[in-house]
Amino acid sequence: MEKAELLRLDRRHVWHPCTQEKDHEALPPIPIARAEGVYLFDVDGKSYIDGVSSWWVNLFGHNHPRLNRALGEQAGKVAHHIFAGFTHEPAVTLAARLCEVAPPGLEKVFFTDNGSAAVEAALKMSFQYWRQTGHADKTRFVSISEAYHGETLGALSVGGCGLYKDIYQPLLLDGFQVQGPDCYRCPYGRNRNNCDAECFTAMEETVAEHHRKIAAVIIEPLIQCAAGMRIYPPIYLKKLRELCDRWQIHYIADEIAVGFGRTGRLFANEHAAVSPDLLCLSKGITGGYMPLAVVLTGRNLYDAFYDDYSTLKAFLHSHSYSGNPLACALACEVLNIFKEERILEGMVPKMAFLASQKDRFEALPQVGEFRQQGLVAAIEMVRDKTGKTPYPWQERRGYAVYRRALEKGALLRPLGNVVYFMPPLTIETLELGQLADVAYEAIVAVTAA
Ligand code: PMP
Repeated sequence: MEKAELLRLDRRHVWHPCTQEKDHEALPPIPIARAEGVYLFDVDGKSYIDGVSSWWVNLFGHNHPRLNRALGEQAGKVAHHIFAGFTHEPAVTLAARLCEVAPPGLEKVFFTDNGSAAVEAALKMSFQYWRQTGHADKTRFVSISEAYHGETLGALSVGGCGLYKDIYQPLLLDGFQVQGPDCYRCPYGRNRNNCDAECFTAMEETVAEHHRKIAAVIIEPLIQCAAGMRIYPPIYLKKLRELCDRWQIHYIADEIAVGFGRTGRLFANEHAAVSPDLLCLSKGITGGYMPLAVVLTGRNLYDAFYDDYSTLKAFLHSHSYSGNPLACALACEVLNIFKEERILEGMVPKMAFLASQKDRFEALPQVGEFRQQGLVAAIEMVRDKTGKTPYPWQERRGYAVYRRALEKGALLRPLGNVVYFMPPLTIETLELGQLADVAYEAIVAVTAA
């Protein structure tokens, strides 16, 4: 199809995600023809480094020979079949292997097909568990400010980003939202290396007061990604684990974005050496090839649903594509690649390279903070550095960086005033350098005015 025709049809019939479609009048969507490694190529042959892993899903680069093979081999056997009453080897292998590598105590895997759906399932499981164990009052969820857990109504209810949530407020569940960590603008004047998570008091107070009504606390461990890559220290998670134990509340970890190596460990909870009661995973689970998500739980939670059918204790929740064999085969291969290609070890010099960029970016007059965890780094642009005053959102500085970076051949999709890197874990240091240079140049240009 000719590019002009492609764009005409796109304009006429397609509605893109998380997009003000009118922006396409000035900047049409870029038609991608193929991809290789960390590069996307448009139909004119122009390349773009995928600095955001295509919405945080891609782990080992595009068009990966091993993942291509795993997909093809499985497609030749069975692409999909119903997962109720039937099972298959890729799902069984994946479930067993996930339980092996996940934080201790997680033994059961429930399959869904996208991150929001996994969050919905986890919330429902927690709620139902308490109903079936004599705690019917435990119906509400606690989350933190600026949290992001997806766009479906349950997930939005526990979210804290007003931009995505506010308009839907009348449709949402009533829960508790507490002030979460905000390390760049820490109200206690601490920094990530010397703090004791003083800000955890807000969580403690809410839970102590309302624990009888609370089913679970849900949180994105270590990095609140959609909030602008807000990074906070593991001590917060340690305290959360203790608090949940003390008051009989589930700890739901949403590692949909941070799982699978992004933070420098396979799972972010490892940094705090804690295990959640429910763990949601998605995105990188298939290397960025196909939608798949899972909820892992402990035996105790599972057992509360296990009884004669007539007790109606079963978790009667399903998705047509539950346990899709193609996606499961890919996910098994992802775990093989992690191990055989020593991916986490290979990240170490790249993480060091990112760390070396901190001083350079923070020397810019309009950069308030360069923060990093693992292979995720974020640069927060501010109008006033001393007062840490944000640029008004209406100025769309981040969007201006996005446009400029595209011209220079990089896909950086900032979150508000925060420009970030979340590249595939296999990116070369040289490519990371190119990405950093594009971001630097774009930030200089966009903050000059
Ligand atoms: N939780 C987190 C932490 C996420 O970052 C996302 C997606 N950005 C989701 C949930 C929702 O996942 P999905 O987009 O697959 O519904």
